[in-house]
Amino acid sequence: MERILDGYFYNNQAGVLDQAIARKLYGTHMVHSVSRLESYAGCAYQFFLKFGLKLEKRNEYKVETTHIGTILHAVMESFFKKVKEGTICLADLTEQERDRLVAKMTVDEAKKVNETIFESSYRNRHQLDVLIRIARRSVANLCRHLEQGDMTPTYFEEQFTPKSNLSYIDMALEDGMRMELSGAVDRVDIRETEDAVYVKVIDYKSGAKDIDYVKMYEGRQLQLTVYMSVMMELLQKKYPDKKIIPTGMYYFRVSDLLVDEAEEEKREAKRIEESRLSGLVNADDFSLELMDGKTGLVTRVRYKKDGSFDSRNAALVTTEELQTISEFVRKKMIETGEKIIHGEIEMNPEKGEQNSPCNFCDYQNICRFEAGLGGNQYRISPQMDKNEVKMLILHPDDEQEKGESVHGTEKPEKSESVHGTKKPEPEKDESVHGTQKSEQKGESVQGTENAQEKEGDHA
Ligand code: SF4
Repeated sequence: MERILDGYFYNNQAGVLDQAIARKLYGTHMVHSVSRLESYAGCAYQFFLKFGLKLEKRNEYKVETTHIGTILHAVMESFFKKVKEGTICLADLTEQERDRLVAKMTVDEAKKVNETIFESSYRNRHQLDVLIRIARRSVANLCRHLEQGDMTPTYFEEQFTPKSNLSYIDMALEDGMRMELSGAVDRVDIRETEDAVYVKVIDYKSGAKDIDYVKMYEGRQLQLTVYMSVMMELLQKKYPDKKIIPTGMYYFRVSDLLVDEAEEEKREAKRIEESRLSGLVNADDFSLELMDGKTGLVTRVRYKKDGSFDSRNAALVTTEELQTISEFVRKKMIETGEKIIHGEIEMNPEKGEQNSPCNFCDYQNICRFEAGLGGNQYRISPQMDKNEVKMLILHPDDEQEKGESVHGTEKPEKSESVHGTKKPEPEKDESVHGTQKSEQKGESVQGTENAQEKEGDHA
């Protein structure tokens, strides 16, 4: 009888940690990567298990998505470093030579990650072949971008840590506590003029990803803005007499998409379209020229035949708006930091449009979350209008009242069971080094499996 009653009144909620315990776990001076903070917004309990208790899944002898991310990043870094140093001259390099070089780099980097694993089975050997194909296509796309634009790849895997002494990543929290960030920016291109330095930040992703103001508003998409802000501050230190101007912040999809077109010409046009950078583009005239000579072949900015903008250019922002976004993201990170030190560890996975962090979480057997049972509920995000949220971020003062009305549309929470519901497709927005399992749309090196990615801050 006792067991039946226990079952009836069973509560599986984590509640709130005692603040003294939270301080012991995280210290009074926290250093996090941005992806960690994003993962907190996905599920606070997952963050607690992973970064508070530091529980790790057992290593297995298999090709992990983290391996793939590391290899592809390294190939891209190594290739474009050689371009910068002049060891590779793109103008003289034939397509065949470039492909051979990239293939060799991929094999070399794979061996550095694990000497034997890619030769340990036919399946893993095939994965390496697919990786080579992805690397070749990605490098080809990035080379084409360079031809169109007029900026120079200058920084690769640029690290920032508390030692960088950057005010943007040093955040004061309550009671004298501090939170700082560390991470690495995949690639930064610059163009110096007499009085300014134009900067472009690129983050490599394995899936399709674009700026999502709703995710940003919820604290789940912070990285790219942080990278842009960090690079602007670093460059300002390096060029104190020049104005630092962002040409934009971008995601580049590292992939070899299977294009369903019979004719080679159409296939190539589709590939070019798909390989364009996504993200936010500075509407400044010179920035647009630097990006791709206003051809629309590198960014997603659309132009009419007469050279004027198409009205559908959601990606265009001004320098001031980029600055406002940067400030918003910093405030969001401080909010997250305060929740962490308050010991908020609620099991609050979001039931997104397509996704939930539970689908890719290593801790399902520990938390035993089951929506509808023991007090477990998915968090249902308010159905926010993307344009209104964009206005909330870009014009926080003007839009305060509207913000209240946006929140007023919140749907009542409802419980949905993890079991018995169709497993939704993973988000196609994963970092090449990302924090979640991912399923690539075009060619996947893991076949159709979800693959676990470890936390990293390319990240
Ligand atoms: S399985 Fe879901 S609820 Fe449990 S820790 Fe992971 S994300 Fe959170």
